[in-house]
Amino acid sequence: MIGRDRVEDLLGTRVAGLAYRDDGKVCGVELAGARGQTRRRRVTANMVIGADGLYSSMAEWVGATPYRAGAHCAPTIYGYFEGLSLDAYHWYYVGGLAAGAAPTNDGLATVFVGGPVGSVPELHADRQAGLMRIASAVSASFGDTLRGARRVGALRAFPGVQGFYRKPFGPGWALVGDAGYFRDPNTAHGISDALRDSELLAEALLAAEAPLEVALERYQRTRDAASERLFDASDELAGGAWDEPRVEQLLRLASEGMRDGLRVVESFARRQREAAAALSGAAP
Ligand SMILES: Cc1cc2nc3c(=O)[nH]c(=O)nc-3n(C[C@H](O)[C@H](O)[C@H](O)COP(=O)(O)OP(=O)(O)OC[C@H]3O[C@@H](n4cnc5c(N)ncnc54)[C@H](O)[C@@H]3O)c2cc1C
Repeated sequence: MIGRDRVEDLLGTRVAGLAYRDDGKVCGVELAGARGQTRRRRVTANMVIGADGLYSSMAEWVGATPYRAGAHCAPTIYGYFEGLSLDAYHWYYVGGLAAGAAPTNDGLATVFVGGPVGSVPELHADRQAGLMRIASAVSASFGDTLRGARRVGALRAFPGVQGFYRKPFGPGWALVGDAGYFRDPNTAHGISDALRDSELLAEALLAAEAPLEVALERYQRTRDAASERLFDASDELAGGAWDEPRVEQLLRLASEGMRDGLRVVESFARRQREAAAALSGAAP
């Protein structure tokens, strides 16, 4: 929460509802009481930003229903493994199924398997068996490599959710990240998207334009244009109804879609260089 001259950090505090003015404009949040306390605390704000993820309560409270939805979603089993000694991402798309491993910190790799609805019956049963079945189906050598690695922690299940775009602003409120735009995570990059859109939203809120709505409309337009091709590719990949030539096209489309997002990120850096140069009086 950002006040007039300070930032107050309330980690672990749940937002339980919104506060509204008489004319319906959002003017703050109601914070749930601390553990064991029932009393709520109200915090007022000119703008409330919902960065509360895929299952956003804020989107529900303000009635931000999707105006565009994906057609598919891919249930996924994922977890962490050590001993894979990877120096790069390994991704497999075979027969409608997907699997992959990505190196992460502490010598671990994230491993995932997924496929169209109905293709991962082990989601709420024997996840290890499901993971090994799909990993071996997409690549026998990937399956063998996994058998020689050690799983760290439990395997998790994501049931799959169809992608969506929600209108990300209204009177006194805005949405950012998965709360406003979500696509099937088979092409990853959702964190980059959320960070990019946070910057876009911050720029819109700081823009000297009046009315603010014009700047927020531009935020929505830029977000949608930067994510559209990746959204479409991810959605079709999640559906699993592709053959090898088509999957190649979809991965190229996903790659171009990531470049669309990158161009927006590069524009932030350019504007920052220009602003710094203007301040110092030097050429950018
Ligand atoms: C299975 C799976 C795999 C993925 N893999 C990748 C990947 O490899 N790379 C990648 O870049 N992206 C990946 N993503 C996508 C990525 O996780 C999201 O796009 C990203 O986390 C979105 O960030 P966010 O801040 O919008 O939401 P979140 O990260 O979901 O954060 C929302 C936060 O809001 C909090 N919150 C919710 N409600 C309230 C409330 N009422 N009061 C207070 N706090 C609240 C939550 O506790 C949470 O901390 C994956 C997603 C899934 C489902």
